[in-house]
Amino acid sequence: MIVLKSVYFQSKKTNVVIKGNRFALISEELSQADVDGAEVVDCDGLAIFPAFYNAHCHAAMTLFRGYADDKPLFEWLNNYIWPIEAKLNDYYVEAGSRLAVLEMIKSGTVFFSDMYYFRETTMKVVEEMGIRATIGVTIADALTPDWQLNDHFKFLENHTGVSDRVQLAVMPHAIYTNTAKTLQKCVSIATSEQYKLHIHLSETAKEVADCIQEHSCTPVEYLDSLGALNEQCIAAHCVHFTENDFRLFANSGASAVVNPCSNLKLQSGIPNVVGLREAGIPVALGTDGASSNNNLDMREEMKVLALIANVNAGDNRLSQQEIQQIATEAGAKAYGLSEAGRIEVGCLADCLLVDMNHVGFCPNNNVVSNWIYGANSEAIRSVICNGKFVMKNRHIDGEEDIVKEANKAIAKMKSEL
Ligand SMILES: [Zn+2]
Repeated sequence: MIVLKSVYFQSKKTNVVIKGNRFALISEELSQADVDGAEVVDCDGLAIFPAFYNAHCHAAMTLFRGYADDKPLFEWLNNYIWPIEAKLNDYYVEAGSRLAVLEMIKSGTVFFSDMYYFRETTMKVVEEMGIRATIGVTIADALTPDWQLNDHFKFLENHTGVSDRVQLAVMPHAIYTNTAKTLQKCVSIATSEQYKLHIHLSETAKEVADCIQEHSCTPVEYLDSLGALNEQCIAAHCVHFTENDFRLFANSGASAVVNPCSNLKLQSGIPNVVGLREAGIPVALGTDGASSNNNLDMREEMKVLALIANVNAGDNRLSQQEIQQIATEAGAKAYGLSEAGRIEVGCLADCLLVDMNHVGFCPNNNVVSNWIYGANSEAIRSVICNGKFVMKNRHIDGEEDIVKEANKAIAKMKSEL
């Protein structure tokens, strides 16, 4: 049991009691029974915020941070990323995933959705480092031999390695890296085994133009024709949607994940966040990989989200609360965690303790505004996930070794090219 004493929450000081992995009490009054046997943490000068849920990431790509910058998506993938990814093994993915989880915890993220390779390694890292993840079984038949593809589907049928913090999902990489037959197999396994299906969708104008040329319809229409658009579907990017795409996608119950930093950096475009929401589409936020962002800092992503969402929104601009909700609760909800992403009795005890004396919080005219626009993630003192501290006073066990190992891993990888 943890008691967060005198913590700043919604414009006043209160106490937050965590029992097991849930918020049990939020009250200005505490009884002796509330503190008996608890770890009482003096939170004077600290504010409590919901933690971030990163709804689209490729964790181990932290190794490729700064490796190939300033290229458009297809050139970046074909000439740089896919050749070095061909060298990946468990050791590299472990080093990259540990670095990613370290960076995410330090910047306030307690959940990520991971579309990558060597999934058991990333699952192990997440279990050990104490946060949550939905780990993808990544399907890209254009890059995968048949035996491996069958192995991926078998792994999904066996539900291997799932726990209360780690889930699996079917993650076909994109429509352009999979045949219709493979995409349909992904849909069928997502339906029969009750998995979320996560895919990159309508990220670039080229993806849309190629799809129209090959299938005579947009990527959204194509996915719909394969039966893939439904409540289990979570699509990343959603930058280039037509009016019909907005309608189809909204009626299907699918969720969108926007990744504004990655889209801007890869020159893919700007997602119409207000348009997606006005169409009735649930919108969450992701960083994408550190090779196209180039960090996994969801607070920074939240600020960019606010800027790009509202730049052309006129009076329909999103409120600060809506922006914060997209970066927190919406990501949790998209991945099936409905009681998470909020500081509320009964919800999963995931939260951040943030230093109100940090220069970006001064003066305290508006704490939410300061969090979105003024501060940075260095203001986060401690992170709690599932009722346990995963960072305390900015300390994470093994941090120096993780950084050292990641530097070693990328140097070795580049020497193999
Ligand atoms: Zn991505």
